[in-house]
Amino acid sequence: MCGIIAHVGDGNAIGPLIEGLENLEYRGYDSAGVAVQNGSGVKVHKCSGQVSELKEELRATPKGNVGIGHTRWSTHGPPTDENAHPHTDTAGDVAVVHNGIIENYERLRRDLEAKGHEFTSDTDTEVIPHLIDHHLGSSTSPEAAFRRAVSDLDGTYAIAALVDGEEAVYATRQGSPLVLGLEDEKWYLASDVPAFLEHTNEVVYLEDEDVVVLEPHEVTITDLDGRQVERAADTVDWDPEETSKGKYDHYMLKEIHNQPTSLSNTIEGRVQDGEVALEEFPDGTFADVRNVQFVACGTSYHAALCGEQLLKEAGVPAQVVRASEYVSTSGPVSEETLVIAVTQSGETADTLGAVRAANAAGATTIAVTNVVGSTAARETDRALYLRAGPEIGVAATKTFSSQSVALALLTQRIAADIPVGTVPESTESLLNTAERLPDDIETVLETSDSDRIAAKYGGSDSYFFIGRDLGYPVALEGALKFKEITYEHAEGFAAGELKHGPLALVTPRTPIFAVFTGEDDEKTLTNAKEARTRGAPIVAVAPEGHPAVQAADAHLEIPDTHPTWASLLANVQLQLVSYHAASHLDRPIDKPRNLAKSVTVE
Ligand code: GLU
Repeated sequence: MCGIIAHVGDGNAIGPLIEGLENLEYRGYDSAGVAVQNGSGVKVHKCSGQVSELKEELRATPKGNVGIGHTRWSTHGPPTDENAHPHTDTAGDVAVVHNGIIENYERLRRDLEAKGHEFTSDTDTEVIPHLIDHHLGSSTSPEAAFRRAVSDLDGTYAIAALVDGEEAVYATRQGSPLVLGLEDEKWYLASDVPAFLEHTNEVVYLEDEDVVVLEPHEVTITDLDGRQVERAADTVDWDPEETSKGKYDHYMLKEIHNQPTSLSNTIEGRVQDGEVALEEFPDGTFADVRNVQFVACGTSYHAALCGEQLLKEAGVPAQVVRASEYVSTSGPVSEETLVIAVTQSGETADTLGAVRAANAAGATTIAVTNVVGSTAARETDRALYLRAGPEIGVAATKTFSSQSVALALLTQRIAADIPVGTVPESTESLLNTAERLPDDIETVLETSDSDRIAAKYGGSDSYFFIGRDLGYPVALEGALKFKEITYEHAEGFAAGELKHGPLALVTPRTPIFAVFTGEDDEKTLTNAKEARTRGAPIVAVAPEGHPAVQAADAHLEIPDTHPTWASLLANVQLQLVSYHAASHLDRPIDKPRNLAKSVTVE
């Protein structure tokens, strides 16, 4: 959440800063700003609104080698010009961008105001430049003042700061992501790699309490006490092309269409001779595990529900816990518990909180994530990477499919190791059909009737999604996607639950998307008919010739395959329905209001 960028180069920092902010806008788009250091003071330009509005403002910008930038997702104070970052001290000599929340800002602000500092915003962030300024007077160097300011802060933060007269960027992190990009003698710092991927794929993932100083010919990384720390550089194998929209109107549509490729990458080499082959988890890895917990939020939570279901089918005790509720509701956790954290970005604050609680309780932890070197990958015992490539659309699509497939493979591996687990008979056909999945998705993408159906049911009062077994998480995910990007009311239900309450809401203006995966379909069909009898139009998401098609008002066809994969194919149809419904309503599909990707606050 929120994107920060910093650049030290050999000319105009503004260009890379603006490019970086455009590439990071999926992390926040309330307001944007930059500050540059150019020998005649620190110049700040900022405004509420999107980066495009900031660009308008920047027509006559002074040049500077060194700069910082920010695209905001507000936590403290509304998205106004004053609350936009960078924030400065009273004289405007220190400028700061910040991602996260400063928990002790009220006390710090009171103390600083008592010393004469004048504040101009409602943000928690503004205490930071004032603190740096406060310490400048009694410190041996700006870097020392920066360190002292940081040691005064409680909370989560990634911070980058400029100090007048210094050709340098001072930065640190505590609980919020920060990655360094290296390109000859040009340096980038950002919340996420797409910010600078056009320039370099050589990166260093910084760790909590690292202090980084970027200067024209030098980068230094030290700990809070000033001791040098070694951080290895990684090469990111993402293609910069993947961070552009290409021929598509929206990143979301591009990412939906990318699924045959992203899923091929997720699966590649991981199914061999009809068996799961996960080199990260050799045979016996899970021999001591007796129960499994998944922790996740949002779309990842729905993928985790698929994982839970598959483990239970294999006789392994499993439970999904919403990450934000983990500390209070996890139940007993022991050294025999395996906790699987599912997080696309690997930086989701709620999920990281759950991982830390699980680690403290002695559990074994695994991250299922898309980002190599992310905090979740580092703070767990092992990571399983999605290999889905960067996802820019705020509404997760391709990463849900990759998470579900990665979890389907991982759960088979776990069940094979644990004495209480039995690999279900259907596993053979599951694995035999896995490699067909990308082609089946291609078929859905080429033949989908979703645009027409979205138009047909446009203007309804509410949209319901129902399913059973693995169709249930897909119903939840279908509804989440729909509400995220259309702003229309949508709910997902376990099909059998309709009659226990939600049927009271059913009218001819509540279309119901019913997911048929091949598991217990007769019961789901009965539930759909019960709703139809009461006037609701039914859209059957089912293979051709399925009995549900006859009984429904409309049909979204999926190829006939193993129920696990059928649920994913149904999900692709529902992704397309949401996309087209939002498009008919002219919504800002890639940047839905109030949301942002990579939720790094609790
Ligand atoms: N807490 C800061 C603010 O509200 C930063 C929020 C963010 O991470 O975007 O401005």
